[in-house]
Amino acid sequence: MIKFTDIVKKYGERKVLDHVNLEIDGGEFVTIVGPSGAGKSTLLYALIGGIRMDSGSITVDGYEITEFKPSALQEYRRKVGMIFQDYKLLENKTVYENAAFALEVCGWKDGDIEERTYEVLDLVGMIDHSDKFPHQLAGGEGQRTAIARALVHRPKLLIADEPTGNLDYWNTKQILDILKKVNESGTTVLMATHNREVVDEMHRRVLILNQGVIISDKENSGYELDHTDEWALGIRHHEAFIHPATKAHPKSDHAESSEKEVGDIEITEIRH
Ligand code: ADP
Repeated sequence: MIKFTDIVKKYGERKVLDHVNLEIDGGEFVTIVGPSGAGKSTLLYALIGGIRMDSGSITVDGYEITEFKPSALQEYRRKVGMIFQDYKLLENKTVYENAAFALEVCGWKDGDIEERTYEVLDLVGMIDHSDKFPHQLAGGEGQRTAIARALVHRPKLLIADEPTGNLDYWNTKQILDILKKVNESGTTVLMATHNREVVDEMHRRVLILNQGVIISDKENSGYELDHTDEWALGIRHHEAFIHPATKAHPKSDHAESSEKEVGDIEITEIRH
């Protein structure tokens, strides 16, 4: 379904993606880990055609997305859902309106919008909160709304950039359960995360990215980096997902939480 061939992305002289080759089949769940600045967000945003690559090719279902004209790109993006660490909900719209909005701008009929929007709000357990505004939601509810918005088009591909980065254990667990369900229904999911427990919980294909290079690619894998590896890679992790019952265990040497910066810069590029 997805094929990166020799992709290079540079900012100035720095290669943020350094000759990346990667194939992902339809229906896979792929987790991408790596230190902050490794290129995880860039890899994900490349897939929605949001960033111009310096060289190489990215095909999705055989189509070269780096060469899409604006209208084709817009059409393609309707097949892709995206969620972010900070949800990016529209603050002046309710939960229902946030999820329905994408269908309205595509000219769906009112009855169809309503049916599909409630279906997707049901999937993420947000029907009872339909009339609330984002500022009235708890963190997990905000992310569940964002997932509803991402899924409303029935995308074939869901891209998640640190979706649980701001959430505690129980909310993280709920989000992962939803992502598993989405994947089981046939949607390909790509998720970047810093969090070892998230990787272990999913136990699916895990890519490790470091300085723009995929240094490991394993099926049915857990986090698998020990503290020496983490130290070498400069990974600091986020402990929010650790089950409360295990919190009494000694923390790692570099356990302070790291704030993941979601690629606002890239989003700016997408809007251009
Ligand atoms: P990760 O998601 O793994 O933290 P990113 O893909 O966000 O990494 O960023 C990779 C590197 O590219 C970082 O060093 C970041 O500062 C840099 N970078 C990302 N976007 C831009 C941009 N628009 N301009 C300059 N540098 C950027």
